[in-house]
Amino acid sequence: MPEADVVLKEVFGLPSFRGQQAEIVRHVVRGGDAVVLLPTGAGKSLCYQIPAICRAGVGVVVSPLIALMRDQVEALRQSGVKAAALHSALTPEETRRVREELAAGELDLLYVTPERLASGGFTDFLSRQPVALFAIDEAHCVSQWGHDFRPEYLQLAALKERFPGVPRLALTATADPQTRDDLIHRLQLDDARVFSASFDRPNISYTIARKENARRQLRDFLQKRKGESGIVYCLSRKKVEETADWLAEEGFAALPYHAGLDREVRDANQDAFIKEDGVLLVATIAFGMGIDKPDVRFVAHLDLPSSVEAYYQETGRAGRDGLQAAAWMIHGMGDAALRRRMIDEGASPDDVKRVERMKLDALLGICETVACRRQALLAHFGEVHGGECGNCDTCLEPAELWDGTEAARKALSAIYRTGQRYGAGHIIDVLLGNMTEKVERGRHHELSTFGIGRELDRKGWQSVFRQLAARGIIAVDHSGYSALTLEEEARPVLRGEQTVELRRDSVRSSRRRGTATEAEAWASPEDEALFQALRAQRLRLAKEQGVPPYVIFHDTTLREMTRRRPASEAALAEIPGIGGAKIARYGRAFLSVICEDAGQARASVT
Ligand code: ADP
Ligand code: ZN
Repeated sequence: MPEADVVLKEVFGLPSFRGQQAEIVRHVVRGGDAVVLLPTGAGKSLCYQIPAICRAGVGVVVSPLIALMRDQVEALRQSGVKAAALHSALTPEETRRVREELAAGELDLLYVTPERLASGGFTDFLSRQPVALFAIDEAHCVSQWGHDFRPEYLQLAALKERFPGVPRLALTATADPQTRDDLIHRLQLDDARVFSASFDRPNISYTIARKENARRQLRDFLQKRKGESGIVYCLSRKKVEETADWLAEEGFAALPYHAGLDREVRDANQDAFIKEDGVLLVATIAFGMGIDKPDVRFVAHLDLPSSVEAYYQETGRAGRDGLQAAAWMIHGMGDAALRRRMIDEGASPDDVKRVERMKLDALLGICETVACRRQALLAHFGEVHGGECGNCDTCLEPAELWDGTEAARKALSAIYRTGQRYGAGHIIDVLLGNMTEKVERGRHHELSTFGIGRELDRKGWQSVFRQLAARGIIAVDHSGYSALTLEEEARPVLRGEQTVELRRDSVRSSRRRGTATEAEAWASPEDEALFQALRAQRLRLAKEQGVPPYVIFHDTTLREMTRRRPASEAALAEIPGIGGAKIARYGRAFLSVICEDAGQARASVT
């Protein structure tokens, strides 16, 4: 039986385990059950791949998406691991071959869909083979609390009885405690050892800006990221198409993705995103689950997600490889109102709607915070972070604060005197002293609050109302016409017992925001040229085989090649991510690019 350390080094070309990997691997190799709760990019795959190779028998991996299985299998084969997948998209001939390999004990890893594993015929077949382990990937799919519930996952609980003594692992990047508890229980893993770590993703920079001119803001953001892969999320299919069209006109390699597109178009666009470098996918949330493309450099939100959980998960698709990545979002007053309406008009029962509103409000709180975004985000998941992360917009460009006590009192008083029955638009008219029809009808020009707020403009007041709502001083009545009402917290403010600090929403362009992109942070032009040449070589080799470029080498590996410029296969083998099978297969192709680059450098000096 091979040693875990040896497999890590020789098969995967990695010098050492990361974080809790070593402990998880040891635990599972010994036959223990495990629940692995680690953020995206932490390296969960190795936690079951290595034990599957080390233990006798085949390691069975349950995965929800066929596309994802294909990539994983391809990546393993590139490293010389005997892996296969069984799913509905195989021809009968291919299925037969996999079954034969399985029966002959030739496979180390087998990827299957949950439907397949739940089917009686297949489990009978499997029970006659030695099984090394069961790994349940994206295990949050078993929970109705999560947003990716898959009823087929519920049947995986039966594995415990059906295959006694075979270790089971459940893995997920879900940070939500409710979903975690639920999945452990539903998969009958109450006795399993739980491995979890901080859900912080330090390489992701968070920026949340006010929506001013969405297209201009998006273009400014993307301009610095040409040639990088990224996802732009929009709420509706229509907006996905309009945005993708517009970006294509602007010269970006943008493609649309949503559930309403023809299957071929959708698959082709997803394929281009995965297999080509620098494609920008404009998508609804129908896209993303199970996509483990490591070099997604940014996730942009043009519309507000439904909850903090959704925001965390969607932005989490960036920077799986650990390199700098950006999570960028713009939101406006209309977004929150639209989301509220979606909840109100949705099909959920009332108690679920209440939870949905709370989840939305929690996200709005993070949008409006003047403190560190990372701190606020992690606090939502019950994690304490010291703040001042230095990699979010509020840390990099601290918000300017102003004493909003007077403004808040005027706003609250206007709400109160108009009877807590009106939305922000009308209350602002009252504060500004605008004689509208509604004002006349309600005789609101006779109120003492009429026209007392001319020191701010409409935008200024909107900002005040938004921040008061985000802090729970006022509430937006979701059942009516978004009428503003006073909360208990409004009392001390009205009585002058409490001051209110507000953030000044600047109309500054977002151009200065955000950290340096990976390309900017990266060193000299010569290095960048070599990196691009290596990327081109990788793309050529990938196209030849019809596989995604990252199954050959990750960007991190190419960066390291650029830095070290290895001149021999032995030197190449020292670079993390290059195992024995890959040296044999690709060593020369990449060494020749490095060698050519060195030749050109010499020529330009002499
Ligand atoms: P997860 O499934 O947790 O999101 P992956 O298993 O896809 O993460 O791994 C994320 C990235 O980290 C991959 O590029 C992988 O090659 C890399 N990685 C994992 N473990 C190690 C390690 N011990 N040393 C170096 N890189 C690692
Ligand atoms: Zn911060």
